[in-house]
Amino acid sequence: MTAVALRSQKVLDLPVHVLTLDEAVSVLEGFCSEQGLCKRVVTLNVEMSVQARTDTALRNTIETADLIVADSVGVQWAAKLPYRVPGIDLTQATAAKSSERGAKYFLFGAEPGIAQEAADALSRKHQGLQIVGVEHGYHDVSEYGRIIDAINEAQPDYLLVALGVGRQEAWIEKHANVLKAKVAIGVGGSLDVLSGRAKRAPEWTQKLGIEWLYRVALSPSRWGRALALPKFVLIVLGRRLVGR
Ligand code: UDP
Repeated sequence: MTAVALRSQKVLDLPVHVLTLDEAVSVLEGFCSEQGLCKRVVTLNVEMSVQARTDTALRNTIETADLIVADSVGVQWAAKLPYRVPGIDLTQATAAKSSERGAKYFLFGAEPGIAQEAADALSRKHQGLQIVGVEHGYHDVSEYGRIIDAINEAQPDYLLVALGVGRQEAWIEKHANVLKAKVAIGVGGSLDVLSGRAKRAPEWTQKLGIEWLYRVALSPSRWGRALALPKFVLIVLGRRLVGR
């Protein structure tokens, strides 16, 4: 049974659930005790919200997810939420809670070697947690059948999928009906952070809610993608002006 009744607000017409980090962890642990199809979790950020305006498949994937949390401060602001639940915090807090019962994790995504390093870091930090498989995220599509078989053999409670924004959500949705994982979460760059290869932005940037700006500044390949933010702000403000 899900412990918390889910309420949602809107961001650019997309739903995002109103809940604290602790409540989100309870919801996920509740999902693990349910029967049925793999539950899908979206950690919604600005880039995804903007992309979903023109990408109807992505929009549908988000709208039909079982849990949608506000990953970024931009989404929190646009949806007027009292809290946000960054994907990396959700992963760490869920690992801490679920390790008490020896929950099983399968990590899929990121550059070769990273998922294993993230797995090692998770099991060092959360005694009891079981890593039941890792796969990197740069396989050919023809390998997906084998990867799904490996996941299904391992039957994880949590499948963490890091294939990049949009792609990971599409992959989870496409395969959710055959995946024998209780919960699949699109975690973006979290495996890089967990592995220690990518540093999380300093705490002062987290407090100000400008982690994205810090990451963008350090990574020129993200400069183009950062344009999603001013676009997002303008759309949200424009809609507020006309009362939508
Ligand atoms: N990634 C992957 N396969 C791909 C593209 C990306 O495994 O084909 C991984 C990438 O290595 C990184 C994660 O997906 O670990 C997040 O990628 P990105 O920076 O695009 O997303 P964001 O951090 O914005 O969520």
